[in-house]
Amino acid sequence: MKKNIVSIVKIQNYNPDKVKSAIAKSIEPLGGMNAFVNKGQKVLLKPNILLGLSPDKAATTHPAVIAAVAELVNEAGGIVFLGDSPGVGSFESAMKPTGIGKVVEKYGIELADFSNVHPFECEDNVIAKHINLAKAVDDADVIITLPKLKTHVQMSMTCAVKNQYGLVVGMQKGEYHFRLENRDALADLMVDINRIAKPKLAICDAIDAMEGEGPSGGTPRNIGVILASADLPALDVVACEIIGLNPNNVPVIQACKRQKYGATSLDEIEVAGEAIESVKITDFKQINNLQNVRRILPMPQFMLKIVRQQWASRPRINKNKCVKCYKCRDGCPVSPPAIDPDRPVGKEVDDKTCIRCYCCHEFCIAKAIDLKKPWFDRVFKITKLMNFLNKHIGKFLPHI
Ligand code: SF4
Ligand code: SF4
Repeated sequence: MKKNIVSIVKIQNYNPDKVKSAIAKSIEPLGGMNAFVNKGQKVLLKPNILLGLSPDKAATTHPAVIAAVAELVNEAGGIVFLGDSPGVGSFESAMKPTGIGKVVEKYGIELADFSNVHPFECEDNVIAKHINLAKAVDDADVIITLPKLKTHVQMSMTCAVKNQYGLVVGMQKGEYHFRLENRDALADLMVDINRIAKPKLAICDAIDAMEGEGPSGGTPRNIGVILASADLPALDVVACEIIGLNPNNVPVIQACKRQKYGATSLDEIEVAGEAIESVKITDFKQINNLQNVRRILPMPQFMLKIVRQQWASRPRINKNKCVKCYKCRDGCPVSPPAIDPDRPVGKEVDDKTCIRCYCCHEFCIAKAIDLKKPWFDRVFKITKLMNFLNKHIGKFLPHI
């Protein structure tokens, strides 16, 4: 069987020339840009633009990476267009703070249509046989996805496969959070979206990644690598190995495994360039959430919902840090919003209606939302125990 290639290239910083040669080197084992882009094709570059934050926060794909890929696509004869649907606010408003505006200006890049949607269908999909995605997906001949490697409070990690969730436009993302509620179903949806969008190539910005409470509230951590692959789940598995995260605890990788989408174990992957061991970060700060509880305690969906409601961390507003921007309230998928900074102290979050999606935490650029474990977890350290069991005996249990 031919193994799926994931390329690892070391590069310490965002020096534009060095970034370009690192990316060119990363796609060499995959056949170079000409293996993905033909002359005259419209190529959608899909970075991760979660919010309008500056590049040094490591929450968004660095503009130097976008610029380098745009140059390589141009050299291959492709026509670049660029876009994403941020969690809150518009792509246009995020362009200046993220540094992407300058890239767009310098290369005369056309912005992709993320204002309108196009209906897609796929009979093989698990969650969404019919789904509306950004019209840009329909306009593109080729999609190149440019994820940022980050921890993620709900999904453990965000990288190549999850990056396509940004093809769902605006508040529709929140509606899916509300409808699906649990992260396994959401992960299945993300695989569905990939099956429709069919990104041909992923080039991951893991030069400065994010550790801790990502995808927006964590801390930048220099890993100093670019990863590239035509097999997105394979890239995610390698990213997990680099940051010391068990792929079995990443819902999106588990969903790929369930749906037999791409390579989901190292045995099926060929690593090109640097060896994983040589770039591994042994003390990368992970999310301290409950991982894959169903493997240790198999239970029906309704029970899982109750357990999750009781057990999962709860968002709490830190009044000292809150700047009353209301992004948390505007982005909450529950109606009426489960969070409101104007409510009395201690009652800002309605724990009964909150579905623990952590969108509020994701959208709060003031880092004013803390995630608090319930008292019994703080006392008995149950999450720690379950994650320990999952790590040591989970691998012997059947896959769920
Ligand atoms: S908690 Fe954060 S997102 Fe919500 S209003 Fe305050 S600063 Fe804004
Ligand atoms: S309060 Fe926060 S975690 Fe709860 S449902 Fe709203 S956005 Fe999700």
